[in-house]
Amino acid sequence: MTQNITEKIINLDNRDYHMHTSTFSDWIPTRNELVQFAWTLGLKEIAITDHSQACLDIQREKKWLYMWTNARRSLKRRENVFNDVQVIAWVEGDILNEQWDCCFSIQGIEYDFIVLSAHKDVYASDPDTVTAGTIKAIERYHDRIVCIGHPCNNADFGTHYDIEKLVEVANAYNVPLEFNAKNLMRWKTHLQKLHYLLQNADRIYLNSDAHTLYELKVARSLAKEFLLEHGYIASLTS
Ligand SMILES: [Zn+2]
Ligand SMILES: [Zn+2]
Repeated sequence: MTQNITEKIINLDNRDYHMHTSTFSDWIPTRNELVQFAWTLGLKEIAITDHSQACLDIQREKKWLYMWTNARRSLKRRENVFNDVQVIAWVEGDILNEQWDCCFSIQGIEYDFIVLSAHKDVYASDPDTVTAGTIKAIERYHDRIVCIGHPCNNADFGTHYDIEKLVEVANAYNVPLEFNAKNLMRWKTHLQKLHYLLQNADRIYLNSDAHTLYELKVARSLAKEFLLEHGYIASLTS
């Protein structure tokens, strides 16, 4: 199992492809803070994956989001002037329903590559259809999906996902699934389904999904300790 998992997890090293900012979206660190702190943590490549417009609109509707954010189109002009961390601009897209509908945009800008997730306040169909909705999204958009975000998150649809079916289809389309470190750290993970994912998914991303600098600092380390504790890796430097 040890050798297998280190081959399956695409970014066990110093790359993290799922995190959020206040600069363009709805969470705490600014884009500049993230970039600078990522360098001190030894990260070499990060993807800023702010929440999609469908998600932001619902948060505004529910008055959870008050601030105005910068125009995300300016991201292309925000070269990293602080250090050598490679910064990628993607989006955490939303699966909207059990049909083919997804949101891959922020402020009208559609992104080519997405971490694609189902969130309980955004997904409009019956929660029990989330596996079917995700499979349809994979069938239609597999060439644009970086990974399926947090399928084992109990706060969203972890309890609803048919993880065996999801893994089977993701493997068939060569779509990675996410081991979400922040959710493990926050005790929001369906552990039985996580173990199934780790043991059976062909390709996996280990992402922080950091919404704070603390989560960027700690979450992936805790997830690696989990892998070590359960015998998936032989050492923390695997
Ligand atoms: Zn999410
Ligand atoms: Zn996220």
